[in-house]
Amino acid sequence: MTQLNEALLGILACPNCRSSLVVDYEASELVCAKPECGLAYPVRDSIPILLVDEARAPGHSRAEVDEDDDATHVVARDEDE
Ligand SMILES: [Zn+2]
Repeated sequence: MTQLNEALLGILACPNCRSSLVVDYEASELVCAKPECGLAYPVRDSIPILLVDEARAPGHSRAEVDEDDDATHVVARDEDE
């Protein structure tokens, strides 16, 4: 189970809207407390990934993609170096 330091949580803020974040331990995500934002940031190896690019937006889920899972295109991304 992912454990996050409460003190750390106190200083973390959503990079999108600067609201506080709520831990969703089941999903291992940090969820923005602001309903209009609501971005969910993944936590990997106990490290919150507070990047808007990595966040999941529950209100704007890509439902239409759900059905063809095996058709997922893995696009090689050009990472900025
Ligand atoms: Zn937010």
